[in-house]
Amino acid sequence: MLRSISDLDDIQYYGKKVLVRVDFNITINNGAVTEDSRIRSAIPTIEYLIKRGAKVILASHLGRPKFRDHNNTLAPVAVRLKEILNRNVDFINDEQDNDSEFSKSISSLADIYVNDAFSTSHRKHASTYGAVKNFEIRLSGFSLKKEIEYLSMIRYNPKKPFTLVIGGSKIKDKIGALENLLPKADKLLIGGAAAYTFLKAKGFKIGNSLFDEEHYDWVKKALSSYGDKILLPVDHIVSSEENSFSTVTGDIPDGMSGFDIGNETSMIFSSEIGGNGFGTIFWNGPMGMFEVSQFSAGTMSVAKSMALAFWRGAMTLVGGGDSIAALKKSGVSENEVTHLSTGGGATLRFLAGDKMPGIEALERAN
Ligand code: ADP
Ligand code: MG
Repeated sequence: MLRSISDLDDIQYYGKKVLVRVDFNITINNGAVTEDSRIRSAIPTIEYLIKRGAKVILASHLGRPKFRDHNNTLAPVAVRLKEILNRNVDFINDEQDNDSEFSKSISSLADIYVNDAFSTSHRKHASTYGAVKNFEIRLSGFSLKKEIEYLSMIRYNPKKPFTLVIGGSKIKDKIGALENLLPKADKLLIGGAAAYTFLKAKGFKIGNSLFDEEHYDWVKKALSSYGDKILLPVDHIVSSEENSFSTVTGDIPDGMSGFDIGNETSMIFSSEIGGNGFGTIFWNGPMGMFEVSQFSAGTMSVAKSMALAFWRGAMTLVGGGDSIAALKKSGVSENEVTHLSTGGGATLRFLAGDKMPGIEALERAN
């Protein structure tokens, strides 16, 4: 059974030390925090515990240091946290890994363990796995709980009609999630580099666009089982050299590569998304190389129609680091999406039904 922090009585927190594993693994530029959404997402859990008289100890990793590195420090995060909480935050430097000595030292720190770092729950760190079983009381924080609830909803019981919007570059990362979700989906819209392997399987010419040889057989199988649900781009923004681009419909000529869905496709995808204002829509993966302005229109149009579907009443979820960055770039705010899944790799693993050691470690027999 998985218990969350609100399942304990308030009195159980009074005067207790609570260790909260958060994910403050964020980009720090010149010693300052520029994007603080991961910090903000942990605030409800931190304040809930403080209000009940707990002494809160936060733990996070930062980057992937091979050894203790004084330049790679969470100190700027503590500064930002102090500003948001408007209270004192002491900063202590320490290490990671899943070694048993370190795990013991973690579990001697506190009386209660809380995990609020969904994005690390597919990994076995000391602070998400090794140390956890040593705590009698182990709980999920609100952010972790919310991820599990929304992702479980789309995995098991999406409100219909269920529209999947998939893009990005690597088909490999998405196969597990697609195998679980495709049988439940009513429509799958595919854009981004992922689309060209599907288009080739349907007999189109794709020029020099990205092609995934390794997963070509899987793509062909998906098309034969679910072809009637799958919508592929009908036109493309292509380029053969820097600073030149054009639109082609249907086949992509030799020497050209597709970098974005074309206008016609954008209109079709946007009306599919905006038209589903009463079901569920899950979007993962940009429709093109949106970092480059010439190739961003398709992704921006999908982001805006996600917001429209939300306002019309759909349950909308956006997952993936690049997709969330694209959403921000489009001007759509966090409040115009039902749930932003910040889990990255963990989001796709969860949807694929993979083992999640960080979540399992929280569960207790009974
Ligand atoms: P997310 O982080 O949201 O899961 P991915 O990591 O799967 O998304 O994919 C994002 C990347 O895919 C972006 O860097 C984008 O430039 C790239 N991409 C999307 N479409 C294309 C394309 N047609 N050609 C090359 N790269 C693409
Ligand atoms: Mg990515």
